[in-house]
Amino acid sequence: MTLLKIAQLGHPILREQARPLTDAEISLQETQSFIDDMIDTMRDAQGAGLAANQVYRALQICVVEVDPARNRRYPYKPDIPLTVLINPVLSVLSPEENQFENFEGCLSVQNLRGRVLRHPRVRIVAKNREGEDLDFEMSGISAGTFQHELDHLGGILFIDRLSDTRSLCTGEHFDRFEKERFVAEVKAVVERYGQ
Ligand code: ZN
Repeated sequence: MTLLKIAQLGHPILREQARPLTDAEISLQETQSFIDDMIDTMRDAQGAGLAANQVYRALQICVVEVDPARNRRYPYKPDIPLTVLINPVLSVLSPEENQFENFEGCLSVQNLRGRVLRHPRVRIVAKNREGEDLDFEMSGISAGTFQHELDHLGGILFIDRLSDTRSLCTGEHFDRFEKERFVAEVKAVVERYGQ
């Protein structure tokens, strides 16, 4: 197991547009090992996802997994099985006015969380780590998680999308002042969109 160093806010790699991989690059042992390291790093850091920019490689690769048994950072998030996306393209399926407020944090923005508007229904077209085509839809809170990770590949951080800068808070103050209200909001989103 290799844990990769996670780039922090202000490092230019987080602002780079990641480049796509060719099919030949996807199958390289080096790429496959890098994906394994990304998964280990995400799990070790208790993240819900990790994009390659965050570990100093501006490549279009991201990994997502929400396993409540494992993840103490976001215990209220619905499960997402381990998903590896390469060259992902996201399109919005829901009308603009249906956006919901997600309370997000990021492994590259230490100890800050804030409210971000996200689309509740998205479609993602990508390749998996075997180079096979993926085409699926995500909804609700889980759709928000994928939007966060795919934003990274375009050099965008959640703090760029804050719906209200006054919502920014530390992790401790999120737990103390915001969590209860947000968990109720998560329940409403899950009831409406199923995730
Ligand atoms: Zn992030």
